[in-house]
Amino acid sequence: MRTLVADHPLIAHKLTMLRDERTETPVFRSLTDELVTLLAYEATRHIRVEPTSVRTPLTLTAGVKLARPIPLVVPVLRAGIGMLDGMARLLPKADVGFVGLARNEQTLVASTYATRLPDDLAGRDAFVLDPMLATGGTLEAAFGMLASRGAASLTAICLLAAPEGIERVHAAFPDDYPVPVTVVTAGLDERLNERGYIMPGLGDAGDRLFGTI
Ligand code: URA
Repeated sequence: MRTLVADHPLIAHKLTMLRDERTETPVFRSLTDELVTLLAYEATRHIRVEPTSVRTPLTLTAGVKLARPIPLVVPVLRAGIGMLDGMARLLPKADVGFVGLARNEQTLVASTYATRLPDDLAGRDAFVLDPMLATGGTLEAAFGMLASRGAASLTAICLLAAPEGIERVHAAFPDDYPVPVTVVTAGLDERLNERGYIMPGLGDAGDRLFGTI
């Protein structure tokens, strides 16, 4: 598994604003949107393209287009929904599937409450959107669902990751795993606290994006 921690001053600047407890929901949402687009640029670096030709006003020349089958983007409900527009800006033609995973706040175990995915993902690149890679249980489950459907590659875009989560996903998808597995994040934080929150983190991403309900 490859872990890519984005190294860019604009990403660091936006992440700092996102962490700030004074940042209110409307600004938090638009910062998330911008950050995901920047992370998506890195996350799609190896996306499959195929040759095509294009006629400019002057001549015919060679180009590329997204290969078929088109990629699948999977926001993890609820917080991943706040990342969808930022991803769709770069990949407007991708299909969108949904996975609803909630973690039990006592046991920290993730359970599935909704799934809307194609049965067959053979040959398709899959991108999971989940803002916080904390214990890794949610991402392990989401990647597992996509892998069992035959996805050609598994990539997660996360705003923040904890070392514990990276280790868990790496253990589940080791280096000799048959398809490429990548986590792209704006920051790798220090640790999880006793409640499973990323430290120093940014708090509960779902609450900050959509309010405490
Ligand atoms: N989920 C969150 O929203 N925040 C954390 O820090 C960990 C999991």
